[in-house]
Amino acid sequence: MKKIFLSLFILLFLFIAYLFFNVYNFTSSQLKVEGVPHVSTPDGAVDRFIEAVSFRTISFEDEADFDSSQFKQFNLFLENSYPKIHAQLTHTVFSEFSHLYHWKGSDPNLKPIILMAHLDVVPIASPRAWSVHPFTAGLVDDVIYGRGTIDCKFGVVAIMESIEQLLKEGFNPKRDIYISLGHDEEVLGRKGAFKIANHLKEKGVEAHFVLDEGMAITKGLVMGVDAPVAMIGIAEKGFISLELNIAMAGGHSSTPAKETAIDVLSTAVSKVKANPCPRSFNPVIKGFMRKIGPEMDFKSKFVFANRAVFNSVLLNEYEKTGSGSGTIRTTTAPTIFEAGIKENVIPTMARAVINFRIIPGETQEDVIEHVRKVVNDERIKIEVLNKGSDPSPISPIDNDQYETIERSIKQILPEIKSAPYLVLGATDSRYFNILTPNVYRFSPFVITSDNLTCFHGIDERVPKSEFENGIRFYRQVILNATGE
Ligand SMILES: [Zn+2]
Repeated sequence: MKKIFLSLFILLFLFIAYLFFNVYNFTSSQLKVEGVPHVSTPDGAVDRFIEAVSFRTISFEDEADFDSSQFKQFNLFLENSYPKIHAQLTHTVFSEFSHLYHWKGSDPNLKPIILMAHLDVVPIASPRAWSVHPFTAGLVDDVIYGRGTIDCKFGVVAIMESIEQLLKEGFNPKRDIYISLGHDEEVLGRKGAFKIANHLKEKGVEAHFVLDEGMAITKGLVMGVDAPVAMIGIAEKGFISLELNIAMAGGHSSTPAKETAIDVLSTAVSKVKANPCPRSFNPVIKGFMRKIGPEMDFKSKFVFANRAVFNSVLLNEYEKTGSGSGTIRTTTAPTIFEAGIKENVIPTMARAVINFRIIPGETQEDVIEHVRKVVNDERIKIEVLNKGSDPSPISPIDNDQYETIERSIKQILPEIKSAPYLVLGATDSRYFNILTPNVYRFSPFVITSDNLTCFHGIDERVPKSEFENGIRFYRQVILNATGE
């Protein structure tokens, strides 16, 4: 008996020692970077940003609502605001309102970098809920308000300002630089980014890297880390919407059949919800844990260092929130449910739409197959509603390209930590994977629990200081990637 206890005790001791050994070996791999001297903001940059936001370049769901006059004014705004860019860079316009600028570098053997943003914005769903005017509020207490301040005129203006400033200084890049500004990102980007990417492909362009929007700096959102964390998007989820529909005999509600169209369809939707796609930590989230885990407080670090042991505990933790759940699996979201026209008539048909956001490693085909299996009812037709998109490939993080982006943000904000992450939405950058495996998604504004909902929501805003840092960030990216 004694012997058994003793061996159990030794085993337990060894196990605990192993856990602590893992924590001890879980060391920081953060890039250490010195800050660069503060470069002053170009004169009038903040005013130009406010002007850019004032144009209602809205992408509506219904194309009939598209207001081309606003986009024309935005074209003029670009031309008037950035005279050096328009005089010295090659400018190509796609579908009237999307722009590609090309700055030739001195060494034609080097691959170009591509900086991206989009100039369209989402509509204002509830204007009365805004505390300021969504397009003309401008600067309030050193914060710039308005639709598009974050998504994504921040990027458009910061990129243009940094390049105009470098042109004024007489900077000559080694590599070519492309600026791609789409005008329909919020409605799938087929007229803008898609065409631009294919145009570059036809020209034979292979990019050193692509940098688009997608992730940002978070503060207080990564558990156990006090410092701000620059989350660099290295992949994005795919998406697909499936329609489930059924046609069945209807009739009077006083003599219902055993099963009606509504019964069958609601059972099918419940089954799909009850059988989610499998969960796991994909390589992107594993990379995130490896990079940020060692920066955490002891408790969190202990868990992350022993991920293999605490795998299901961690997965359960991630599953508690919508955004956490989105990082570990293909999500299932029923978004439309339609049937019936009158209270005493049994409908002859019913339809539901389910939107899936697909995790890297799975495909649209996998989702269709999964739904078919789970529904397992031949009466239900399963159709692809809109052309979806497979998840992007995962961009590497152990290369110069990733380091350039990491270095650039840390040169501006040396106290910051950084880690790769998964973009849950879709960005224009997904079209650019045909030009390079190195596609990164990051803008240097700060997301906290306070402003998290203003993205596509109410009171969208960005502090003036963060916009100014945005200009400095793109400047550093260009200097680091294309300077001597
Ligand atoms: Zn965007």
